[in-house]
Amino acid sequence: MTVDHLTQQSQPNPVESPKLPPSDLKPWRGLIETYRPYLPVTDTTPVITLLEGNTPLIPVPYISQQIGRGVKVLVKYDGLNPTGSFKDRGMTMAISKAVENGAKAVICASTGNTSAAAAAYARRGKMRAFVIIPDGYVALGKLAQALLYGAEVIAIDGNFDDAFKIVRGMAENYPVTLVNSVNPYRLEGQKTAAFEVVDVLGNAPDWLCIPVGNAGNISAYWMGFCQYHGLGKCDRLPKMMGFQAAGAAPFLTGQPVPHPETLATAIRIGNPANWNKAWETQKASHGAFNGVTDEEILAAYRMLASQEGIFCEPASAASVAGLLKVKDQVPSEATVVCVLTGNGLKDPDCAIKHSDNQLKSGIKADLATVAQVMGFA
Ligand SMILES: *Cc1c(COP(=O)(O)O)cnc(C)c1O
Repeated sequence: MTVDHLTQQSQPNPVESPKLPPSDLKPWRGLIETYRPYLPVTDTTPVITLLEGNTPLIPVPYISQQIGRGVKVLVKYDGLNPTGSFKDRGMTMAISKAVENGAKAVICASTGNTSAAAAAYARRGKMRAFVIIPDGYVALGKLAQALLYGAEVIAIDGNFDDAFKIVRGMAENYPVTLVNSVNPYRLEGQKTAAFEVVDVLGNAPDWLCIPVGNAGNISAYWMGFCQYHGLGKCDRLPKMMGFQAAGAAPFLTGQPVPHPETLATAIRIGNPANWNKAWETQKASHGAFNGVTDEEILAAYRMLASQEGIFCEPASAASVAGLLKVKDQVPSEATVVCVLTGNGLKDPDCAIKHSDNQLKSGIKADLATVAQVMGFA
C-alpha cells in the first residue's frame, strides 16, 4: 500500500454530518477561576494554574460495608491533581500571589509533595524553586518530579522539622518567598476541596476524615466548610476527624515528637506548623485526633487498591485506616468523606514491598505454560 493510497482513503466524507446536540459540558478552568469570589485574588492577580481541582468524590462500597448500619463512605481522590497531590490546590494560590507580589524565587521544606507542586507551579510562573528535603525520606516519584520540573533540590541530613527551621530562616533573611502551609494563601487554595465536596453532595458530610501532618489541610477544609456554611451553601458542618501515624502523633501526645517515624513519609512530622489552627478546628467541629499504626495504614492502602480500585499513597490511606479503627463511633446512616491526599504512583517502592500479591516471573513464553500457570490446564 502506497502513502498516496492511504491519503486518498482518508479523505473526509463529503456528505454533511448530522448536527449533534450542544454539549452542556463546560471546560474546567482551574480552582481560582471557579471559586474566584471566595478567594483573595483581584482582576490583576496573574493566575498560575495547571487546571487543578475538580477531583472526583468516589463512593467506596466495600469500605462502607465494613462499617454497615447504612453508613455511606466516599473518598475525595485528590491524588488526581496535576502533580498528584492536594498540594496543587494551595500552590496555584501561593504561586499566583508570589508572582503578583514580584517574587523571583520560592522556597519550601518538604516531605515530597510540596516540593513537586512548588516546583511545577513556580517554573510555570517563571520563578526559581528551592526545595529542602530530608535525605532518604522522600518517595521516589516525588523526588523525580521535583528534579524534572526544575527545582533546585537540597537534601539535608535531618528530618522535615529541621528542614522547616532552615526555610523559615531563609525566607526571613533572603529574597525568597516561603510556600509551606504557614503561607496563608496555601490554605486559601486548599479550602476549595471542601467547596467541591459540598457542591457534589449538596451539603457537608457528617464526618470528614483526613490524614494530618503539618495540619494545614485539616485547617483549610474547616475554613472552606465554615465559609460555605456562612453563605448558606450547606446547613451543617462536619465533625473533623484527623488521623496521624502512631509514630508521628504530636496531637495525641500533646507535644512535639522529636524523632517521628512512619512509613507514611508524607505525614512523618513531629512539630506541626499549624499547631493552633488544628486544635481550634478539632474543638470547633467537635472532632478528634486519633493515631493509626503503620500496619493499619498498609491494610487500608491494600484494601483501597484491591477492593475499590483506588491507588493512593500510604499517608493518604491513614484517613481510611482511621475511619475503620473508630467505625463504632460513626452514627448510623452517616455520610463520611475520607480525603485521599496523594496518588499511589508517588511511592512505587512501598506498593511493591507491601503488596501481598506475588509477581509470577520467569515463565516460559508459550501458551500451554501460561495456561498452566493461570490454572486452566
Ligand atoms: C502534605 C500531605 C499530607 C499532610 O497534610 P498537612 O496539611 O501537612 O497536614 C498528607 N498526605 C499527603 C499525601 C501529603 O502530601
